[in-house]
Amino acid sequence: MKTLTIRQPWTSLILSGQKDVENRSWKTSYRGPILIHAAAATDRDAIKAGIGNPDSPTGVILGVVTLVDIVTDSDSPWAEEGQFHWILADPKPFAEPIPARGALGLWNSDVEPPADPEPARCGRCARKLTSATSIAKGYGRGCRARIRAAALARAVADFTPQQITRALELIADNGIVPTARPGVFRSVSSDGTTTYLTHHAMCTCAGARHRSRCYHIAAARMINFARKAA
Ligand SMILES: [Zn+2]
Ligand SMILES: [Zn+2]
Repeated sequence: MKTLTIRQPWTSLILSGQKDVENRSWKTSYRGPILIHAAAATDRDAIKAGIGNPDSPTGVILGVVTLVDIVTDSDSPWAEEGQFHWILADPKPFAEPIPARGALGLWNSDVEPPADPEPARCGRCARKLTSATSIAKGYGRGCRARIRAAALARAVADFTPQQITRALELIADNGIVPTARPGVFRSVSSDGTTTYLTHHAMCTCAGARHRSRCYHIAAARMINFARKAA
């Protein structure tokens, strides 16, 4: 399995979830679980500076993390400028460290992490999750799409199919645009001669005054929904 050798105390800080970025001068296209190996040598400067525990174990594989991404602009306090920021998530320290010799780069060790007693499962269908994104979100991709669709349906449940169709046309025609006030839109009337102010619960058009809802409001809700989902 892919393994990365890192000096203590950083190894232990990563596996306790305190350090979420590893800085490297190089990158890899690999994404997924990596074993974290504590080098035989310790970063004495860090220990002298009072970081971490001077008795942190060395020469052992201590656990597994997920390499989610590699970027150059992480805003983590651990990210160093001019380096590749290896974004690490979901640290799982092993109950028993496994002795191993380190190596440079991302190396392959024959250690397999102990079976995860609680595999991450989808919160909707309980299927096992494998992708780092799904694990982070708690739902599989298909279920996320269904949850979004259901939420959108709820957001516009008060409207007739005709109103929803007209709302979609209004959005497609750029007939509803945001104003400087958050959540408030300007909608153009169907003949193009008038504009109304619209937000998720009210609109200044005549239709909304009579029936308390109009297709402008449906369009505003759809736009708000799309923003939240983005
Ligand atoms: Zn699911
Ligand atoms: Zn309206």
